Formats: sequence, structure tokens, C-alpha cells
Amino acid sequence: GLNRTRDAALRARAEKVVPSGMWGHLHAAKLPGGYPQFFHRGEGGVLWDVDGNRYVDFMCSWGPNLLGHHHPEVEEAAERQRRDGDCMNGPAEVMVELAELVVDMVGHADWTQFQKNGTDATTTCVTLARAATSRRKILVAKGAYHGAVPWCSPSLLGVTAEDRAHLVYFTFNDVESLEAAAKMAGDDVAGILVSAFRHDLGFDQELPTAEFARAARRICDDKGAALIIDEVRAGFRLNAAGSWESLGVRPDLSAWSKAIANGYALAAVTGADWLRTAAAQVFVTGSFWAGAVAMAAAVATLKIVRRDDVPSRLAQCGLMLREGLETRSRQFGVSIRQSGPAQMPALLFDDDPDYRKGFVFCNSMLERGVYFHPKHNMFLCAAHTEADIAAALDAAEHAFSVVAAL
Ligand code: PMP
Repeated sequence: GLNRTRDAALRARAEKVVPSGMWGHLHAAKLPGGYPQFFHRGEGGVLWDVDGNRYVDFMCSWGPNLLGHHHPEVEEAAERQRRDGDCMNGPAEVMVELAELVVDMVGHADWTQFQKNGTDATTTCVTLARAATSRRKILVAKGAYHGAVPWCSPSLLGVTAEDRAHLVYFTFNDVESLEAAAKMAGDDVAGILVSAFRHDLGFDQELPTAEFARAARRICDDKGAALIIDEVRAGFRLNAAGSWESLGVRPDLSAWSKAIANGYALAAVTGADWLRTAAAQVFVTGSFWAGAVAMAAAVATLKIVRRDDVPSRLAQCGLMLREGLETRSRQFGVSIRQSGPAQMPALLFDDDPDYRKGFVFCNSMLERGVYFHPKHNMFLCAAHTEADIAAALDAAEHAFSVVAAL
């Protein structure tokens, strides 16, 4: 096994002063036993934990690491802004430059506003849709993740029925269920909130069908409601202009975060003109929402995304990984399912109801210096090299042999 001395000591100290040592989705208890909780350093597509173990990282900070840790152009832009000021009495000049860039890049965007976390952005979208329509109901896909506050948290602990009173549920990619939800909400539909693609924890991922996307658009048009795409996870990895651009369906609002500033804390809402007045009137704000360093990082990040066609690069690397995993799993007679876009792959095992095979596989990968996730979609970053993919596939060859022997 890997050395875990320092990680264990930090966990013991954290246990005393942080409830259960860590909160939420980054709690190492949600991963197989061998995984580290604490990290020391990142460089490109590689992470080192506090005990000095090195991993080729396919979680990419759960999305934010798009171009690689310490990308020189992003760091230089952030550093330049840091020398001038970050948190001031109002935004820096860079906010306008960033807003112009976002409106220019995102297909449906006539305007944008900035926040910090993805939850800020999805919550703002819901508030705006309600403000603009004077209606209450938001149609959401069952099991979709949109953030960690009472209206959308995956846990019901501390949540009241009233917090969810005006959500109506449908099944992703199921047009009939979407129509039924719209019918149930009647003339009280403020919006449809839907992820760029279906990326629910522990399930096979699904890209939206054109039929489903068009139905969502049509229902919103018929009802005068807002189509809201949650781009927080997929944003800038599939298509920098918007994940549904290739389907020919444009939303009225989109929520962005994670990758937008390559690891700096920033979120954005983009919107169509008819929501501009509502966006100007609702009260949404936060002490750090105008932080200039993250905005400078975002300008640098988005320029690189556009210049280097980052989504295509990620897709290329992701396909190499996917094909390699497929070949090696067959070699050992292990039957796997890879789903979702190549830039954000998910790997699940057949006949694995409790994810035991996934846990054994991922632990074995980890031992050989590759950080995979057994249940969640993973992420490629532009700093991953062919050598990184080759290293992952070498590790996978052994890991499949371990699973085959179970
Ligand atoms: N929506 C989606 C699709 C997400 O993946 C996430 C984060 N995992 C969020 C919203 C919430 O973002 P944050 O954690 O930054 O609040």
C-alpha cells in the first residue's frame, strides 16, 4: 500500500475540529479505503497527496482544472490582477472585459452576471426565471445535481417540504415525462432546469437527444417560460459556445462555474434579452462575487479555450483513454460500460450493484499512480499528455486483471 502517514495524522486532527473531518462530496469516506483526503500540490494533470504520492489525475478537482494546474498564462493574468487588487469596493475593469468575452463566446448570451459557486449560478437562474415570469414552478430532472442548498440539495436533512414545494420532476431524455410535468404545473411554469447532459452519480451518463432538447425548448416557448441549462459541470469541455449548440437548441439562461477560471472561484449566469430587466432588478449578490483575480483568470482561461479549441483536444485524449480501457477490459473478460462524452468519461462495471468491482479497480489504479473515480463522471484536462494516458492504461491493465480474479 501507499504511505498514508501524514494523511492519517491530518485526518485525526481534523476529526476533532471539523465535523467528521470533512464535509460534502470531497469527503474521502465516499471513496474506496485507500484514497487520500489531503493533497499537497498540483501541476498540469498531476496531483501529489500530502504523503508525496503522485497521481495522474482524472478528477481534475471535480471539473475546475481545465487547462492544467499552474497554467502559465492563467497564473500570470491572475498575478498581475492580484498586485493591483482583488476584493475592492466594486469590480475592477476586468469585469467588463470578461463579460464581453462571455457574451461573445456563448451562443445564447445577450448578457452575463458573475457569482462564485455553481450553486450561486443555478439558484440565480431559478430566481430570475421566477422574477421574469411571476410564476413559481421549476421543472427539474429527478436525481439531477444542481447544488447544495435546500431547494436542490441531494439530501433532505435540514430541508423542509416548503423548500421544494414548487419543483415538478421529470425524467431526463423522456419527452412524455417532461410534457406531463409541464401539464401538472399548468400556467405556473417559470422554467425548465436541465443539465447539459445526464451525469447523475453512480449511473450511466446520457447525452440529451435532439428530440428531448427540442421538446424542452417548445414547452418553454409555448408557456413563456425560461429554458435553463446547468452548464456548471460540462461548461467549456463539450462546446465553449454552449453544450446544446450542436443540437440547435438554445436556452434562455445558463449557469456556469467550475472550469470557467481554471480553478479560481467564479461562476456566471448568461441570459437572453427578455430576462435582462429581471436580472437588473432581482437582488442577488455576495461579498466576493466581484473578486477581480478570478475574473482575470477567467479572461485568460476563456481566451485559451477559444484559441486552442480545448474541447476538441480533450475529446481526442478522452477517446484514446476510452478505446484503451475498452481493449484492456476485453483482454481480461471484464465487462464494463463507458458512457458520456469522451471529455467527461464515466466507467461502471456490469454486475456490480454495490460498486465493489469499481472500488477494487480504482484502488488498484490508485496504487499505480492514477486517480480515477468509481461512481462519478471523471474529467480530462488539456494538460493531460499521451504519456499520462499511456500510464493510465498500463495501470488499468493490471487493475482489470485484479477485477477479473475477484
Ligand atoms: N450543478 C452541477 C451540474 C454541478 O456539477 C455542480 C457541482 N458539482 C453544481 C451545480 C454546484 O456547483 P458548486 O459546487 O460550485 O456550488
